[in-house]
Amino acid sequence: MGKKIKEVLSLIKNNKKFLIVSHKNPDGDSIGSEIALALGLRKLGKKVYIYNQDPPSNRYSRFDKAGLIHTDKKEFNEDIIFIVDCAEIDRIGNIKDEINFKKTIINIDHHISNEKFGDINIVKGDYSSTAEIIYELLDKLIDLDKDIATYLYIGILTDTGSFRYPNTTSHSLKVAAELVDYGVITSQVSEFVWFSDPPARIKLLGDVLQRITLHKNFSIMIVTKDMLKKWGAKEEDTEEFVNYGLSIKGIKATAIIKEKDDGMLKVSLRSKNGVSIQELAAEYGGGGHKTAAGFTIRGDLETFKNELEGKLEKIVNKF
Ligand code: 5GP
Ligand code: MN
Repeated sequence: MGKKIKEVLSLIKNNKKFLIVSHKNPDGDSIGSEIALALGLRKLGKKVYIYNQDPPSNRYSRFDKAGLIHTDKKEFNEDIIFIVDCAEIDRIGNIKDEINFKKTIINIDHHISNEKFGDINIVKGDYSSTAEIIYELLDKLIDLDKDIATYLYIGILTDTGSFRYPNTTSHSLKVAAELVDYGVITSQVSEFVWFSDPPARIKLLGDVLQRITLHKNFSIMIVTKDMLKKWGAKEEDTEEFVNYGLSIKGIKATAIIKEKDDGMLKVSLRSKNGVSIQELAAEYGGGGHKTAAGFTIRGDLETFKNELEGKLEKIVNKF
């Protein structure tokens, strides 16, 4: 067993109150990891509070039946703070100024670029998801059960895009298989995650796909505020749209630019065939992985789209 895991296990045993935090706009891996960890700690009789700046999207709120995830601030006086799935401390958003950094911070993440801001950092860049790491921790701590296994499975399933992305390894498949052995109903999870979309999302998707621009080896999609309004869709309905831009043969990189209410643009980047878009996201102050990264920037959509076109052109057509 790794030394750091041992240290975390003893911190858990010797403390009572735990805060669990993840990133802004939490995804399936954030939520699956947070809830699984919380349920595991509760099995040991610990007090746990999960806080995220933003609530889970409709897709993932279905899984928080017990309302374990909070977005309301309180006095944070927990002994130990787990920060999961965050490469940088700023990713946790508006709680940063209220956390007592004198408390012990345990940073658990799978981003290779993780800044190791914790007192203990368990960072595994070759793991598909934070859930895969939480599995290893919980497996040594408690008897896993169907409920906990389901949350961990959701984390792995969503961060691997249902085992399609290059981060799908024999290890992630083995962990998923072990989780299924605890009784995860895979068809039910799939239905909740992938087959329960609101009609507005599908209408909006049609519009976004119509407007995709195809360039030499890359593509760009946009989602304007007007498009959301036209179809009665919400920002969260655009989750995963970016993958369509990469699904075309010959396309090695894609971007989706989304206009937000506050005048900012949220950009998601994806790549394949050995191309890395991580550095491009970092150039704009964002981050992520080699083939999936993102950032947020202030600007005009059309102007920024032109700028991004130039950058992507260079990245995918290097010679
Ligand atoms: P998405 O494009 O789906 O929001 O995110 C894809 C990947 O990029 C995720 O691993 C996510 O953590 C990372 N990412 C997205 N936006 C940001 C950002 O603003 N900052 C950092 N550091 N990472 C981001
Ligand atoms: Mn993740």
